[in-house]
Amino acid sequence: MRCPFCGNVDTQVKDSRPAEDHVAIRRRRFCPACGGRFTTYERVQLRDLVVVKSNGRREDFDRDKLERSVRIALQKRPIEPERIDQMVSGIVRRLESMGETDISSKQIGEIVMERLAAIDTVAYVRFASVYKNFQATDDFEDFLAELAPPQPKSES
Ligand SMILES: [Zn+2]
Repeated sequence: MRCPFCGNVDTQVKDSRPAEDHVAIRRRRFCPACGGRFTTYERVQLRDLVVVKSNGRREDFDRDKLERSVRIALQKRPIEPERIDQMVSGIVRRLESMGETDISSKQIGEIVMERLAAIDTVAYVRFASVYKNFQATDDFEDFLAELAPPQPKSES
């Protein structure tokens, strides 16, 4: 597994243990080249999903992108990281169990909103308001930038 910090491909697994009620294996990894530490998750992938954007473009479903958007929506909210992992896994399982390889970005957004609404109203409103503006462009990076909460002024 390539080190996300320096690009070295020769990283070491320091610890492996079940996560998310044994749906995943969590591995703590260490990069001897730069001393960086990072975590990877190993999961069963039932099928390769393809996301169809509103402009018709297709791209492979990327769990990391989904996870980033959920994490940003939940930034500074009192939600356990483990709970976020479970939520993302739940969304992916739902997508995989829909029986279709092609899934529209709109369907994914709606499922994310539904799940967010169930765990955190503030994060849901944040995600939903930004999501509605970006449906037309589908620019994920713009979406994330807009989704990120404003820098805190004096809180915490
Ligand atoms: Zn490294």
